[in-house]
Amino acid sequence: MSAGCDLLLSLPIYMPFFLALQNDDLRNLSLSGHVGFDSLPDQLVNKSTSQGFCFNILCVGETGIGKSTLMDTLFNTKFESEPATHNEPGVRLKARSYELQESNVRLKLTIVDTVGFGDQINKDDSYKPIVEYIDAQFEAYLQEELKIKRSLFNYHDTRIHACLYFIAPTGHSLKSLDLVTMKKLDSKVNIIPIIAKADTIAKNELHKFKSKIMSELVSNGVQIYQFPTDEETVAEINATMSVHLPFAVVGSTEEVKIGNKMAKARQYPWGVVQGMYRKHR
Ligand code: GDP
Repeated sequence: MSAGCDLLLSLPIYMPFFLALQNDDLRNLSLSGHVGFDSLPDQLVNKSTSQGFCFNILCVGETGIGKSTLMDTLFNTKFESEPATHNEPGVRLKARSYELQESNVRLKLTIVDTVGFGDQINKDDSYKPIVEYIDAQFEAYLQEELKIKRSLFNYHDTRIHACLYFIAPTGHSLKSLDLVTMKKLDSKVNIIPIIAKADTIAKNELHKFKSKIMSELVSNGVQIYQFPTDEETVAEINATMSVHLPFAVVGSTEEVKIGNKMAKARQYPWGVVQGMYRKHR
């Protein structure tokens, strides 16, 4: 960092002076020499890449609905996971953390799975372990923040960034378990509803199913994640994303030859469904 930037960092000393000026119109001034604040974006990028990023996903959905497959498809890898049985006495959360690297960017990814969700005859308490898990991560972070000598810089933040809620592709409506669980979680996490195994629904049925789900969420007062549109760079794309909610997804770990390229897809006697498109630069 140049001396000019050091000066910039000591600006708070001059704050009263700036506050007095705050009502005046901003004036454009030209610099008579190099100050150094043009390196601030580079410094931010360097800091972010050296620290790496942390992303925590919570996958909520019945056993066998395609949670593990979708995670493998999304991140183009094979995470360790053994298929859960349908005999779990209750719901339990299983968190696994991985270190992924793409180019020189590191990602510390935590995937939290809801083992046994939807498998019990009495599902009244199915949401409780999920809520408890989320609250426990908030509490752990708070405890770190409250420490006199806190080290948030290298603290592994396990708070959930996104909750993917897997909806069964019934083509009918949401189950009461879905509504109850989403309602309990919506104030604590960003819920992104997704229709799992969307290859099993016909196109016009999928369209109606999506509208039905959205109207049920609205009538039951369930808040789902709103893609932010206040930032100019992402406003357009985010506005189109919201229109597609709930996302219809197809997961696959198998590579199938499509044309002359290999892609993650599901092969059927009648054709091939491609899991996702990846734009190569
Ligand atoms: P989990 O218990 O929710 O983690 O479910 P899995 O990911 O283990 O998937 C259970 C079964 O569903 C496997 O046989 C998968 O191949 C299959 N499956 C996963 N995703 C899809 C999908 O998008 N479409 C279809 N038709 N089957 C899928």
